[in-house]
Amino acid sequence: MDRNRNEILNQMGITQWVLRETMDGFGDEKVTPAVSSLTDNTEPAKHPSTKVTLPEDERSEIIDQQTDLNTLRASVAACTACSLSQSRNQTVFGEGPEQADWLLVGEAPGQQEDRQGRPFVGRAGQLLTQMIRALDATREQMFIANTLKCRPPGNRDPLPEELRACEPYLLKQIKLIQPKVMVALGRFSAQALLKSDQPLGRLRGQVYQYGPNKIPLIVTYHPAYLLRNPADKAKVWLDLLLAHKQITG
Ligand code: SF4
Repeated sequence: MDRNRNEILNQMGITQWVLRETMDGFGDEKVTPAVSSLTDNTEPAKHPSTKVTLPEDERSEIIDQQTDLNTLRASVAACTACSLSQSRNQTVFGEGPEQADWLLVGEAPGQQEDRQGRPFVGRAGQLLTQMIRALDATREQMFIANTLKCRPPGNRDPLPEELRACEPYLLKQIKLIQPKVMVALGRFSAQALLKSDQPLGRLRGQVYQYGPNKIPLIVTYHPAYLLRNPADKAKVWLDLLLAHKQITG
C-alpha cells in the first residue's frame, strides 16, 4: 500500500485498520465470503455465480444494429422513447474508451450531469473519482455510464417503464465495450442488470457472470449513498477490490 493510496483512502474516510484488513483479503481465495460477511448483516444470496440472460425485443434489435459508440450516442441524443425526453436538458450517454477494461454503471443523471452532459460530475462524482484513484487507476481509463440516459425530474427514482425503455442502450454499450469487469453502482443499476428485486445489501459481496460472455459483475453502493452514509465507504472499497481482482487475477 503506497502513501498516495493511503492519503486518498483517508480522505474518503476509510480508516487504516479497515484498509489493512482489506488488503490482507486482496488476492486471497476467500475474498468473496470475507466481503459477504460485511453485507449489512443480511444473508448472502444462495448462488455465488449467477448467469444473467440478455433480453431480446424488437427495439433492442434495432439498436443492436448500430456498430460503434458514436452512432449509439447519436441515437441516444435523439431518443424520445420515454417521457424523460421532455424534461431533460440533454442526454448523458456516458464517457470513456470503447475498449475500457472497467464499465461502471450508475443510476441516472442528476442536475449537474443533465447540465453538463457528462456522468458523475457532482459531489458523488468527485467521490467516485477518488475511489478510482485509490485503485491506482484514472477515470479516463474506465467507461462510466448510467442505467438511464436522461435525468428524472427532481432526481426522483427511475420508473420501471423508463428503465425498460432505456435498457437497450446500456445493453448495446456493454456489447460494444466488452469490459473485463462491470460494477453496478446502486440499487437501480444492480437490480436492472441482474433482473432482481433483492435489496442491494443482499446483492453485493459476490461475483456474477453477466451475459453470454460471462463478464464478471460486482454490485456496490452508489457514491451518492456514501455521501449520506460514509460509514459504508469501507464496504465499497472491499467491493472495488473484488472487482479489481477479476482483472488482475
Ligand atoms: Fe430515451 Fe433513455 Fe432518455 Fe428515456 S431515458 S428518453 S429511453 S434515452
